[in-house]
Amino acid sequence: MASKRCPACKLVNPASSERCDCGRSFVDGSMGTSLDDRIASRQANRVGERPAGLTALGLLNLIFGGLAGIYFLILTSQVSSAGPAIPGFVLTILGVMAVTLILLIAAGIGYLAQKGWGRVCGNAYAVMSLLSTLVWVLMVPVLIGWTTILGTVYPVTTLVLINTRFKDAFVD
Ligand SMILES: [Zn+2]
Repeated sequence: MASKRCPACKLVNPASSERCDCGRSFVDGSMGTSLDDRIASRQANRVGERPAGLTALGLLNLIFGGLAGIYFLILTSQVSSAGPAIPGFVLTILGVMAVTLILLIAAGIGYLAQKGWGRVCGNAYAVMSLLSTLVWVLMVPVLIGWTTILGTVYPVTTLVLINTRFKDAFVD
């Protein structure tokens, strides 16, 4: 006998198949993923089928990154024009800002390209941003305001989205 009929959906399958297209196993009768589901999940993971939310997040990263970059350049020029001796803690703040900024922009590019390193950069950016906001608030509680809210809400949103809803959208 070169073929067998599935008892569940009556589809005729080759004798060698272990699972019918509907998902029923010929071995033990258990139900697995159907052929349609397997094709659908494979297509959903293909590059070019990027979820709209991930595109939006990537673009927001680039916009925020660009704005923060301009702010960073203004800040750097003000600091350097203030005098030749720049205090160590100011250099530390500028360094942390620069790294966070690079991670933010790299993550944005990685989201749009759906690369695994985009998710790594996104997580690193979010953690660094939250830690700097925390240190900032502990040092200068007077300055709690919009910057603090942005420095908390966006990283948290990023962490949640790239590790849950968009987790499978990163292809490699
Ligand atoms: Zn079947």
